[in-house]
Amino acid sequence: MQPNSSQAGGKGECAYDVVIVGAGFAGLYMLHRLRALGCSARVFEAGGDVGGTWYWNRYPGARCDVESVQYSYQFDAALQQDWNWSERYAAQPELLSYARHVADRFDLRRDIQFNCRVTAASFDAALGRWRIEADDGSRASARFCIMATGCLSAPNLPAFEGEMTFKGDRYHTGYWPHQGVDFSGKRVAIIGTGSSAVQSIPIIARQAEHLYVFQRTPNYAVPAHNAPLDPGYLKQVKADYPALRQRAKQTMTGIDFDYSEQKALETSPQERRREYQRRWDHGGLWFLGAYQDLMVEQEANDTAAEFVRGKIRDKVANPEIAGLLAPTNTIGCKRLCVDIGYYETFNRPNVTLIDVSAQPIEAITPRGVRARGAEFAVDAIVFATGFDAMTGALLRIDIRGRNGLALKQKWSEGPRSYLGIAVAGFPNLFTITGPGSPSVLTNMLPTIEQHVEWIADLIGFMRARRLEVIEAEGGAEDEWVAHVGELAGRTLRYTCGSWYLGVNIPGKPRVFMPYIGGFPKYVERCNEVAANGYQGFVATGAAPAT
Ligand code: NAP
Repeated sequence: MQPNSSQAGGKGECAYDVVIVGAGFAGLYMLHRLRALGCSARVFEAGGDVGGTWYWNRYPGARCDVESVQYSYQFDAALQQDWNWSERYAAQPELLSYARHVADRFDLRRDIQFNCRVTAASFDAALGRWRIEADDGSRASARFCIMATGCLSAPNLPAFEGEMTFKGDRYHTGYWPHQGVDFSGKRVAIIGTGSSAVQSIPIIARQAEHLYVFQRTPNYAVPAHNAPLDPGYLKQVKADYPALRQRAKQTMTGIDFDYSEQKALETSPQERRREYQRRWDHGGLWFLGAYQDLMVEQEANDTAAEFVRGKIRDKVANPEIAGLLAPTNTIGCKRLCVDIGYYETFNRPNVTLIDVSAQPIEAITPRGVRARGAEFAVDAIVFATGFDAMTGALLRIDIRGRNGLALKQKWSEGPRSYLGIAVAGFPNLFTITGPGSPSVLTNMLPTIEQHVEWIADLIGFMRARRLEVIEAEGGAEDEWVAHVGELAGRTLRYTCGSWYLGVNIPGKPRVFMPYIGGFPKYVERCNEVAANGYQGFVATGAAPAT
């Protein structure tokens, strides 16, 4: 469909039915679905290509922690059958190739504008349309604005005193140079020990002359046991795909895992150890599916945590370093890391662990990093300091709803949404995997597909009835926010300073952002809302609903 430049826009402003912000997995599929509805749509993407997370996160070792055969689209059976994953956990280049393949296969690029970061979006109530502005001067208006901006896409760059004085090279894992970085012969500092650091440290350590790891909080990591995918196994998965996807939809995380119904506290220590070992040997996030009480009973959780601490002690030769690497918080409270040789890396003579838990990094100096009263001279600093998760990417855009209300203002005490998809006061604005949805607690691909299809159905519903404006009701939003908070309060995920709670960003309200009730319950609720004529929304338009 061609955009209509006379419909509503000012000078130089193109008008569309829908503007989508972001061309990651969410934006790509949203565009595809909207085309099927006959909508004109334009995607604005800050990066130079499709791929989102997998376009930006090119740090050494970046790969998915959900198995590739499940971390993939299922909306198109032929795509699912044609694409061949090469490894159990796909690495960033392969994931980016997959996104590119999807863009080409469905001819999506012609509706995507690259190198164009959306800076503002405001709702014009008189026209019932969104006005969108981007940093390259692009202007657009659209009936609907869909934020496909990702959950972990706004890098967190903590302010370190003297940072700008550093004479060497600085990198953030989430904003990695496309040409790659060769650390051979270099002294390198890495700040942070979350998933990005856990993946990159073993590889940087193999290259660098010396690697200094600045750790504020140790993290639990379980082995990936990554390996090339056996063609026989791949064939079997492809034959079973419809059933596998169905099984996955019935699990809390949307991943086809073997979740135990047993409770750790009702199992003997010997049996528990056998089960933890079995899952450790299998590898991956599956470890936490060992018992259903692991994330609700601290005593149960302690048994899993102690098992992993034992593994760390076994792997790390120096007991003092093993002690520093062993977390004491709740396992699974922060995102569990999936590693390839992480703990073993600390046995290398060219790796030094610096504990900055009690005494923060003092400063960045022209020569390196000063901590614990000493200066560590380096040639490069890697900031593996994570993201302003879930709300960051949205709030870095000046989004204004009715009466100029800023989203930043509305969310000043934490994000408020209906189903994690819509926000009262912001009509015709939808967030794919927004705060209040399961998103980051699930396999992102099926979660994205569910949101995209739900939003597309809603737009189809409105078009069929010639409705123009739809908005979440304040009461429905209040009820959903309370429900999300109430569920979160029941789990042990509340017990640590994680990015799920926004604690990693100074001044960010401490609110557990994702919906923790699990994928099936969430989908059921979304389906009920739709079946009841989009209960909790108010719609207006040119013609009464039929
Ligand atoms: P992260 O988990 O938030 O880790 C950031 C690290 O930086 C933490 O160790 C944090 O310490 C440290 N840090 C932040 N500010 C600091 C400061 N001022 N001084 C010292 N240390 C500081 O970020 P991430 O590793 O990029 O991962 C974010 C999420 O992205 C993951 O949880 C995961 O969901 C996703 N991810 C997934 C994969 C994968 O395996 N597929 C890979 C990468 C990322 P504290 O813990 O003390 O705050």
